[in-house]
Amino acid sequence: MTPAAAHIARTLLPYTPASGRVYNFSAGPACMPESVLEQLREELIDCQGGGIGLLEISHRGALYARLNDAAHDACRKASGASSDYEVFFMPGGATVQFGLLPLNFIPESGTAAYIDTSIWSQKAYAEALRCRDVTLAFDGRAIKYAKVPAKGEFTEPAGAKYLFYCQNNTVEGTTFWEPPTTTLPLIGDATSDIFSRPWDISKHAMVLAAGQKNLGAAGASLIIARKDFLASATKRLPQILRFEDHALAHSNLNTPPTFAVRVMGLMAEWTLSVGGPVALAKHNAMKANLLWGAVDASKGFYSWHAEKACRSHMNVCFRAPSPALDARFVAEAEEQGLFGLLGHREAGGMRASIYNGFPAKGCEILAQFMGDFAARHG
Ligand code: PMP
Repeated sequence: MTPAAAHIARTLLPYTPASGRVYNFSAGPACMPESVLEQLREELIDCQGGGIGLLEISHRGALYARLNDAAHDACRKASGASSDYEVFFMPGGATVQFGLLPLNFIPESGTAAYIDTSIWSQKAYAEALRCRDVTLAFDGRAIKYAKVPAKGEFTEPAGAKYLFYCQNNTVEGTTFWEPPTTTLPLIGDATSDIFSRPWDISKHAMVLAAGQKNLGAAGASLIIARKDFLASATKRLPQILRFEDHALAHSNLNTPPTFAVRVMGLMAEWTLSVGGPVALAKHNAMKANLLWGAVDASKGFYSWHAEKACRSHMNVCFRAPSPALDARFVAEAEEQGLFGLLGHREAGGMRASIYNGFPAKGCEILAQFMGDFAARHG
């Protein structure tokens, strides 16, 4: 373990969950750092000494203005976005943003392109197809989402208003290690990898991330978008559906999801306090390698069809030799205090989601359990 990773493991991610809590491998909503949960517990009763709880303060008051500013500042800093970009919050999770993208950026007779590497990029494509004539730049279904495309393995349709991709594929356990190279305005879905590693925002027109993983609370999204791209959106839309209007209103156009914004702010501040995406990337690699290592050491007992080069550090997916053994694995793991390991309903098998706030000790215990289970049932 590097000194930075050891520091995070020792001081900020306690080795064992607080009394009564379990190791929660859930894909999202997901495990959060307990220090953030404790601060939220305090703020729910009395937010920063004002005598009013976090859920009760006015979104137009001075205290919320401070919390809102702090959330914007911390997210901007953790993302590394330059002043060419707006950093702001939108109501709704990632699927809401999937629906708003075509309405904002594709004229009625226009098109955009989607790299389909996952259930979520397929969903983004399908939502856009309901209202615009979009195309697939890469069809991952044909290879059962076994990998993400390399340079030259996807097309760039002429006239496309943007190219969409999903940075980390939560369900399939695959990831892009670099943003795709393109001349089109690039839009990344960072819902399951935001702040987990350094990521070059300047290669993107927009990055969007729903809150329920590395940002904490479901129901709102962080948007990082280039100002000129935002301004290119049609004005013939209700304000509440326009990304640019939310950015210009500093994420306070109507009553915003104040709780989710505060949680995202605290998660971004926690991210910075542990050394930011650079330190977390090392810590996350160490955690993921414990689990992928257990898959490989099982000599075929555990399998997964995704290519090794694309293995995610956020979602480790694997299956036992039969669905009956998968079910047994999940049940026995729960007896050991390891929860949330059932794979996505469309993918089956097991999935260990180990976002930024998940403690390394839980990965050590799961890796050990995987070895024991394979020895007993192999
Ligand atoms: N994109 C990715 C990468 C996801 O993992 C998910 C699921 N959390 C979504 C989009 C959908 O998010 P939401 O349920 O917030 O719409």
